[in-house]
Amino acid sequence: METKWQTCPMCDSSEIKRVKRTLAFDTKNGKVKVPNLVFDECSSCKEQFFDEEANSKIDTYVSRSVKKPHIPSR
Ligand SMILES: [Zn+2]
Repeated sequence: METKWQTCPMCDSSEIKRVKRTLAFDTKNGKVKVPNLVFDECSSCKEQFFDEEANSKIDTYVSRSVKKPHIPSR
């Protein structure tokens, strides 16, 4: 099944754009950065929508960070 947003469920705008951006997520182990994440964003209210692919990418990065309690800073 393909997820495509025709209109924004938050503000009813049809200005949903596919963007590619690096996002940081707050987790129990601190901030997790997901580079070059492709997702849909409403240009009107800036709500972000993640499809299955984006979600699994986020999952990968978040679970990777959970296995390592401390991300070594170099
Ligand atoms: Zn919106």
